[in-house]
Amino acid sequence: MAWKRRVDSNIRVGYHRGMPLHEYLSFRDGELFLDDVSAGQVAREFGTPVFAMSETQLRRDTRRWRQALEDAWPDGPTALLPAFKANTCLALRHVLNEEGVGCDTFGEHELRAALSTGADPACVSLNGTNKSEEAIRLAIEHGVRITLDSLREVEMVSALSGNAPRPALVRLRLRPGGETLTGPSDFSDRGDSIAGVAAAYRPGFALADAERAARSIVGSRGMRLVGTHTHLGRHTTSLAAWAGVVSDHVRQIARISAACGGWRPSEIDLGGGYAERGSPVGQAIAGREAPQEPPPPEQYTRVIAQAMRAAMRQHGFDSRGVALQLEPGRAIYGPAGVHLTRVVNVRRSPERPDRRWVELDTTEQFLADVVLEHARYPFVLANRVSAAPSVPVDLTGASCGFDIIAAGIPVPEDIAAGDLVALLNTGAYAETQTTNFNAFPRPATVLLSGDLVDVIRRAETPAEVFSRDRVPARLLRSEDT
Ligand SMILES: *Cc1c(COP(=O)(O)O)cnc(C)c1O
Repeated sequence: MAWKRRVDSNIRVGYHRGMPLHEYLSFRDGELFLDDVSAGQVAREFGTPVFAMSETQLRRDTRRWRQALEDAWPDGPTALLPAFKANTCLALRHVLNEEGVGCDTFGEHELRAALSTGADPACVSLNGTNKSEEAIRLAIEHGVRITLDSLREVEMVSALSGNAPRPALVRLRLRPGGETLTGPSDFSDRGDSIAGVAAAYRPGFALADAERAARSIVGSRGMRLVGTHTHLGRHTTSLAAWAGVVSDHVRQIARISAACGGWRPSEIDLGGGYAERGSPVGQAIAGREAPQEPPPPEQYTRVIAQAMRAAMRQHGFDSRGVALQLEPGRAIYGPAGVHLTRVVNVRRSPERPDRRWVELDTTEQFLADVVLEHARYPFVLANRVSAAPSVPVDLTGASCGFDIIAAGIPVPEDIAAGDLVALLNTGAYAETQTTNFNAFPRPATVLLSGDLVDVIRRAETPAEVFSRDRVPARLLRSEDT
């Protein structure tokens, strides 16, 4: 496996206490380095908490996924459309534009932001459960693919594309299904099946509606039905689930094809939901340890491509020339991110003397997936990586809530205020979900490249937290007015 290699056994190892490390991370003189900068230096210069992203890692993982997809699908063109929502920092979009990959965008605001960075509209998909007219108008104007989600949107595109010089490019988002979704979902701590959780998620056409939609689009002037889309999400690291999702998707395509005179997709987009090394999702669920090394991109793409080819053959489709697209979000952005936070205090629970709370200067408000996805981020004591972990503690945040960032994790006995904690795999869905609960200003994001560090999203100021507030004059005391 590629990441097992040792570039230099003194300064760079592939693992830390059994935990896989990404290539940009290394240990030098007992300290964690991100690219060629120590975590301590980043923390001193930019303050904590702070999000740090490695440009080198982002490029590396993007290239690896792109290559894996190309290798697995020689049948036709391929494209990566990493989900923009996973990390909306515009500088990162510029990096991905340079890498020649597009994106999945949700709604008008993400679409506008992605286009503002110069993303190639031909490699952008407008997704979203209830798209606004403005979003659709924008997509038509720029030639962005519209991933339709309901009959309502078919009518909207039809109405808005009437006078456009070229037809709107549309795909149908179909619901993921198949017999392989019986296993537990990593999104559920109650053992709910993937099928059960997926059924509660509303996007996508029911098959009968998709058939109706396809019939009306194929017969229209203003729209061109270029393909289909589905998005399972990050329920599982099981490859078997994917094989089933792909064959079920092709089965649905065959029904749509039969319903509208033998129409064939020229592109099939299988959305996101692929796990990355050290994937935090579901790791906080007691008794359920997902592998820290889920399938690598080469394996995901191989299984998906094989299932796709087999299902297409079974339903009488020729796979040659059909474009295969994937939208990995977390798998591309996640590994490149580290969240740096300092220990503020260590407290013992009076009721449970065995329990220590290590209080950090960050909060679950900046790491929402510890709540939403039962995430447990891989942890490194960045300022003294060699200190042996010996006692279990709860890493907690600074908000008024329980704010448990990681329960029962082993740390060195003498962990103390001032120690620097690095939470790995925080490049996706952390910064984009930050809130101002307890009036915390949101942290900055810095971008590392070799020994360069640039702020790419500055920290909020305390005043900005209240900058949208207006107090009606009648509530202001007279001396203030
Ligand atoms: C969120 C989302 C993605 C990305 O999912 P990941 O789990 O981050 O890979 C891709 N496509 C669509 C339509 C999404 O909603």
